[in-house]
Amino acid sequence: MKKLYIASDIIEARLLDTILKSQGLSSVVRNENLQGGIGELPYVEIWPEVWINNSNDWEAAQEVLIEFTEIGPKEDWVCPKCQESNPGSFQTCWSCNASIYFTAE
Ligand SMILES: [Zn+2]
Repeated sequence: MKKLYIASDIIEARLLDTILKSQGLSSVVRNENLQGGIGELPYVEIWPEVWINNSNDWEAAQEVLIEFTEIGPKEDWVCPKCQESNPGSFQTCWSCNASIYFTAE
């Protein structure tokens, strides 16, 4: 199992999953039921992820992902605060929640 993509919402995750499956690739969406937190648990944002089951599918999946992400105009960006890589669809860092426009003071 390899994590292919962190989606900004479940709709995006399912769309990518559907495209992968249509290409004959074995993919799975994780975290799709975890968004929003449950009950007394402190609210934690958990992004849906698309994983590839079979390492033999990995390269083909990468190509699907490139086409998929090119649908949108935004490119991946590196968080200026914690240096984590973020999908272009994110406006804030998934890791530290800093804005894409964060500048150190
Ligand atoms: Zn960050």
